[in-house]
Amino acid sequence: MVDSREAILQKATDLGVKFIRLQFTDIFGVLKNVAITLDQLPKALNNELMFDGSSIEGFVRIEESDMYLRPDPSTFTIFPWKPNGDAVARLICDVYNADGTPFIGCPRGTLKRVIAEAEALGYTMNVGPEAEFFLFHTDATGRPTLETHDRAGYFDLTPVDLGEDARRDMVLTLQQMGFEIEASHHEVAPGQHEIDFKYADALRTADNIATFKFVVRTIAQRHGLHATFMPKPIYGIAGSGMHCNISLFRAGQNAFYDPDDDLQLSQVAYYFIGGLIAHARGMTAITNPTVNSYKRLVPGYEAPVYIAWSPQNRSPLIRIPAKRGLSTRLEVRHPDPSTNPYLAIAVMLKAGLDGIKNRIQPPAPINANIFDMEATRLRAEGIDLLPGTLDEALDALEKDPVIREALGPHIYQRFMEAKRIECEEYRTRVHQWEIEHYLTKF
Ligand code: GLN
Ligand code: MG
Ligand code: MG
Ligand code: MG
Repeated sequence: MVDSREAILQKATDLGVKFIRLQFTDIFGVLKNVAITLDQLPKALNNELMFDGSSIEGFVRIEESDMYLRPDPSTFTIFPWKPNGDAVARLICDVYNADGTPFIGCPRGTLKRVIAEAEALGYTMNVGPEAEFFLFHTDATGRPTLETHDRAGYFDLTPVDLGEDARRDMVLTLQQMGFEIEASHHEVAPGQHEIDFKYADALRTADNIATFKFVVRTIAQRHGLHATFMPKPIYGIAGSGMHCNISLFRAGQNAFYDPDDDLQLSQVAYYFIGGLIAHARGMTAITNPTVNSYKRLVPGYEAPVYIAWSPQNRSPLIRIPAKRGLSTRLEVRHPDPSTNPYLAIAVMLKAGLDGIKNRIQPPAPINANIFDMEATRLRAEGIDLLPGTLDEALDALEKDPVIREALGPHIYQRFMEAKRIECEEYRTRVHQWEIEHYLTKF
């Protein structure tokens, strides 16, 4: 890992880097960047690079718009592709105020604050994400369509098509950037893919997800395809999730593992599950932040609907994969890849920590397929549902002070404002479904 200023400057010079992208994400998870030339790099590494925060959605007002980018030297990476033959590098940045304090509206800084809370208790969180996406064709003018070539399904081996080619290229590119790819396969729906990279600590994984999405989109484009992380692009087939495999470590040991327990899970693991379940409704607006997200969270497509956990079944919110020992982990299944990775990981960690601090016992695990259970039994077992719409999720977030605290007042308020507007815009539009059902009927 290159992490000293001098080493970065040397490497950038040696490799003929012409441009450096200084990256950060806005509160909605959109990757932003300021490109600088090599001669500006020393200034950037001295945290002297100013930008106008008022032009970034959800950041600050015009009158307080001077903000600074502080590059994290450990994120220095060279992009394997070279526009016009020039090497381009990137650095991921934290956003700071003009007075040198961290900007509380910076999602990366927000995650760092929750990580510090975990560290104060002696815990480090590791996260391994499984992001799914669709590859669609573009039309003659380069606009994305909803068409795919392939008719393949889960793990299918098909005659090599455009999608397979693009995916192979994505994997190779990610590897060149230092990602360890653990699996890459076709998913259930036509045109749907998944690439899994190795887990890392919470902050590194959030950075990796942001980078991953950027690489997948870029490589797709180079193959004349459009990659989308939209959660449910097509009604009636599977949507795209981003399951997060979570573990906690303490003093080099997996804090979720206890060989003496029936399920070989520790008390800490049970409390963590308890916290995730207690705050599931409150955190969903963050992990599933678009109106479209809720079209994925419906029965029938391996996406969760019910707030429950299981050591076996894939229908509930949390599954415990069979691995134990150092690999003991929880798979949280509701996040989708439209989420801001920094905020999603921050709220999951916060929920789990709240479970540990307040000793929240989880309900009994559900081993049946929840989708086959009768409504009366679900009610009798006290199984609640995830929010059914973004509006409902925002109402639940409003009622959850713990999740609000994780976000901090700035992000919470800006997020709420923007997302309520999004809901209202959607609510007042006339959708294709209405035309099909009502135009001729009335
Ligand atoms: N696509 C499913 C989802 O929306 C997950 C499918 C799977 O990985 N088993 O979460
Ligand atoms: Mg998977
Ligand atoms: Mg999958
Ligand atoms: Mg999974």
